[in-house]
Amino acid sequence: MTMEHVTTLECTICGAEYDPDQIIYTCPEHDGVKGILEVKYDYDVIHDNFDADLDGDIRSEWKYEAFLPVHDEAERVTLNEGGTDLFDAPNLSEELGVTTLVKDDGRNPTGCFKDRASSIAVTKAKHAGRDIITCASTGNAAASLSGYAARGGLDCRIFVPGDAPTGKLAQPLVYGADVLAVEGSYDEAYDLSVEVTETYGWYNRNAAINPFQVEGKRTVGHELAEQSVVRGEVPDWVVFSMGDGCTIAGAWKGFKEFYDLDYVEDHPKMLGVQAEGAPAIHESFHGHDNIDDIAETLADSISVGRPRNTIKACRALEQSGGTSVLVSDEDILDAEVLLGSTEGIYTEPAGATPLAGVKKALAEGIIDSDETVVVNSTGFGLKDTKSAETATGGVDRIDPEISEVEQLYGTAEEAAADD
Ligand SMILES: *Cc1c(COP(=O)(O)O)cnc(C)c1O
Ligand SMILES: [Zn+2]
Repeated sequence: MTMEHVTTLECTICGAEYDPDQIIYTCPEHDGVKGILEVKYDYDVIHDNFDADLDGDIRSEWKYEAFLPVHDEAERVTLNEGGTDLFDAPNLSEELGVTTLVKDDGRNPTGCFKDRASSIAVTKAKHAGRDIITCASTGNAAASLSGYAARGGLDCRIFVPGDAPTGKLAQPLVYGADVLAVEGSYDEAYDLSVEVTETYGWYNRNAAINPFQVEGKRTVGHELAEQSVVRGEVPDWVVFSMGDGCTIAGAWKGFKEFYDLDYVEDHPKMLGVQAEGAPAIHESFHGHDNIDDIAETLADSISVGRPRNTIKACRALEQSGGTSVLVSDEDILDAEVLLGSTEGIYTEPAGATPLAGVKKALAEGIIDSDETVVVNSTGFGLKDTKSAETATGGVDRIDPEISEVEQLYGTAEEAAADD
């Protein structure tokens, strides 16, 4: 059993340390699941073990295996997650008036960013000899975990809010998971999953409370750092949407590691974007209390009333010199169509939220027009076609007659005359 690069699990509230080989989720010194733990590493060991070239050739997140908290001998459960493209977006940049790149994580095996975490979770559950894995999810984490559980031969039982988009409810069924659609909010589904873990002892992959979860998400930061090295330019801003806050926290931790190790010469500022209807991390970052825990937004992946990783997310914003903004559901839908129609990248609402945030931050003077921005499209659009219909107004229905086409575009002669 060797994991010599992982030194300890440290409580983000009181600093107490725990053995990384123990299955412990949160620090017992605090109420409920508040005492989120953070995985600490020995970076001398990691640096010695990391012999990959930062040449931009990234087949999967396992290129950064030296940074991942798995035992040497553990069987890797992978579908080649990560290694996603960082696209130039010239049409979008022109439209926005700022140089914008798109990191397309909708191309992951199950169609979202969370595969980076699921690969680690299932690898660890399997190595720990567990055969039942569970999580609560707004949709994507469940779909993702189910796919990896199938790959790893584990049973998967997931808790999702009953009103999750149908695409996200169907996907885990195909992967063979038990899908328990809870008649309640994500927050209620979450609490139930924690209770079930305590009662039945299933391996819990909930993002915030499983300290190893967020660690796979660091690889998007590693990739962005490597892609910056290859491009010869570090972006000024990296933008993520925030639900529980683990994604932006992981991305920052990963980029910062490469920066601290001098693999990349600068670091970006992190911009976190939340929906106006689910603003808890934003409110907390800006020092407002009285946060009610209602979550109401059509961007289901970030519809979180009580984020579990507010501390880590706020730390990412603060350490990087970044900030957060709120956007409306209408802004989010507009951004979804803008990204699709300018660059051919179809993202779900939570994946379009960063772009909506960039528009807002430009308008507020947070982002300067001479800066460079990376928006992270965290989930594939086909997961939620209902939002796309709302955003676009749907299709034109016509009879199978040429005259119907002529009504739209004029006759062929008229169209030719217009050219
Ligand atoms: C989960 C998710 C997010 C937000 O991640 P958090 O860790 O909850 O902040 C953003 N986009 C998509 C597509 C997601 O599935
Ligand atoms: Zn503690």
